[in-house]
This record gives sequence, C-alpha cells and structure tokens, in this order.
Amino acid sequence: MPASACGGRPVRHEGKTEARLGRIRGSEPPRRHNARTIAALTSNPGCARRAVLDAAGVDKERLAARVGFPAAFGQSQFAIVRGNAFEKQVKADGCAELLRLLRELLGLDLEQATYRDLGAGETGDSLHPRHAAARAQLAGAAEGARPTVFDHPLLRLDIAGQEVYLEPDLVAFQHGGAFHVVEIKSFPVIDGQADGEKVAAAAIQSAVYVLALRRLLGRADAVSHEVVLVCPKDFSNVPVATTIDVRRQLLVLEHQLARLTRIDTLLDALPDDLTLDLAENGAGGPVVTAEALTGALGRVAARYAPGCLSTCELAFFCRREAAGRTATLGAGVREELGGVETIDEALGLAHGTLAPDEERAEAAAMLRTAARVYAEGLQAASAAVPPAPVALTADGEPAAPPGAGAGP
Ligand code: SF4
Repeated sequence: MPASACGGRPVRHEGKTEARLGRIRGSEPPRRHNARTIAALTSNPGCARRAVLDAAGVDKERLAARVGFPAAFGQSQFAIVRGNAFEKQVKADGCAELLRLLRELLGLDLEQATYRDLGAGETGDSLHPRHAAARAQLAGAAEGARPTVFDHPLLRLDIAGQEVYLEPDLVAFQHGGAFHVVEIKSFPVIDGQADGEKVAAAAIQSAVYVLALRRLLGRADAVSHEVVLVCPKDFSNVPVATTIDVRRQLLVLEHQLARLTRIDTLLDALPDDLTLDLAENGAGGPVVTAEALTGALGRVAARYAPGCLSTCELAFFCRREAAGRTATLGAGVREELGGVETIDEALGLAHGTLAPDEERAEAAAMLRTAARVYAEGLQAASAAVPPAPVALTADGEPAAPPGAGAGP
C-alpha cells in the first residue's frame, strides 16, 4: 500500500526554505519536535506564528521569557525526575517489567520476546541515518515472527511540508506482524481512575506516534489503534497497564495536519530579514534586543485563542497582544462573530451605536438580539428580587430603620 494510503507522503524540505528558517532561528541550535509539540501544533492549526517558530526550531519558552511573558506551564523539575525514574524502572532489564504487563494485558505469548534499543541520546547530524536504521529494523520486524520490543525508534512526520524528526520518547512492540505503541507516563492511576486531561493528552501524543509509525511502514494496518498506557498504580511505583483506543485522535490529527498551511507559503509573507535569534554576543549581551524580538514577533500573524494558555509557551504574550479582540473570548465567539474583530465593535453593534456594514449585518442582528434578551433577563431578575427583610422588635412590630428617631 502506498504511503498516501496512511494520510500523505512526506515532502522533502527545500534548501531555500531551510536556509530561511535558519536565519529566523539565528545561531542557536534548533529545538526538535516531539509528539507533544505536534499535538499542540494541531490544537491551533491556523496560527502562522506558532507554525513558523516550530518549523524554525526557535525555543519558544526562552523567547517568551526574553520578551517579558514567561510561560507558566510545563512539567515541574520534580515531575520530570519522577517521570524519568518511573520510565527507567519499567524499561529495566530489557523491558522485563513491561513485557510482563503486556503479557497480562493483551494475553500474548511474549516469552521469546527480544529487546532492541534503536539508539537514545544520539543527536545532530546522525538523525537521518538513525531514522533510516530504525526504518530498516522496524520494516524487517514487521515481516518477522518473533515478538520484539523497540525502544527509541526515531520517526519522521511531514508537518506543513517540512519533514520533522520525532524525539524517541517511544516504545513500540511488534507481535504477529502488527505493532503497538506503548506510552509510559508518570501520572498515577488511583482506584482505576486517572486524570482525564492527562489521559487525553497521552492519547493524542500516542496518536502522533501511531501515525508516524504507519507512515514509516506504509500500511495503516501495520500499527494498532489500541495503544498501551503504562502508569504508576495508586501512590506506589508499581506499574499498571491499560489500552486506549486512539481512532478518534487519529482522525483529528490527520485532519488538523492537513489544514496546516505549507511553511514556505507562510515564509513568503514575512520580511526577509526577520530574525528571532536568542543567542548572546561575545560580550554576554543579546544579539537581538528584547524590543527587536517583540517587533519581529509582531510581524508574524498569530491567532490567539484561550486554548493557547495550555498548549503554547507564547500564550501570555499573544493574549496581551490580542487584548480587546473578540478572538480572546474563544473559538466559538470568533466563529459566531466573523468580521467583528474587537469587543468595542461588538458592543457598539449590540447597542446600536455603530451602524453595521453589509458584511457584519448578520452578526449585528445577533448581537442586538443577545443584548435585548440580556437586558430583559436583567430587568425580570431585578423585578423578581424580594423586598429586603424587615427586622422585628421583641413584640413582633417592625423595627425602626437604622438612624430613624435619632435626634439632631
Ligand atoms: S500562543 Fe500565540 S503563537 Fe502560540 S498558538 Fe497561540 S496565538 Fe499562536
């Protein structure tokens, strides 16, 4: 089956585009994508700013701090250390613990399973050969009969016309010619329940891996839509495994990836000298000042939405920039009020102090109706307010209001 059967084939990145992205990033090494960044990218596919920054590999967390709006999310150092320790425990001795869990969960015969580490920790120029090696090993295993656990296979995915490598935070195991993706997470499962938001994030990240593996192998049915999630049980370090069906996440992911504008089209709309270099000069000062970075960021169109607060490091910067705009009220409001850009404009149309043009007539009618219903609701609520309780004296007579009868 051709690669397109799994949702498209990777497009090799043009050298010109690569050079342009390098100029934007400046002298800093690029940040690589991982499943989390791809999942986050697809949560706001219309944002050119995020697309350009991620394609260029700019460190958004440092950039946000440099322009005065440090990010307030991400894992704490404690959570990262705990997560790494748990993962190490589950993978110890050639994934012995993991194989036991898989045997129990899936009822598979994994006695003869082998373990292969496809090379964690390698960096830089070795990515391409390492990806090629992973492809060869995985494709070979898909033909073989022996169950195999692969640790750290380096995958690749086409994101807006750019081939990006996925950091190998991944275990995949093959049994009977089909692969399963295994996600090891350090959030706990307490009494059989885990935090729904964290499970949802793990599911979309796993879907990124499933999609990348399917594209690498060229067959959708080569990788199961059931991924295995391994977490600590209750308040212990004892791992527990469960399966998650990621078919819905795969559909969303493929749809959103297809909606991303090609990166070279976005670059064409930007000034040639645009740079977001975060490096320091020889004297310890910045190569590009905070003011210049702010100005450069302002030249790349953003599409702020409240969801950015949980998915993008630049959220506070973009929220400030978008203050007063209807987009800050959420995607639903933005869509309902198409063409009404600011909250002042919306209020003017709602109260009839601003005459709508043809394009905004429908939105204006809706806003006027909403304002009228809201005013009527307020009026009805205030009419229904019961009279204030009257204090009684010990004889059951109404007490004089405070201050009444007081002499001058
Ligand atoms: S925070 Fe800004 S850059 Fe990030 S996705 Fe939202 S609008 Fe785009």
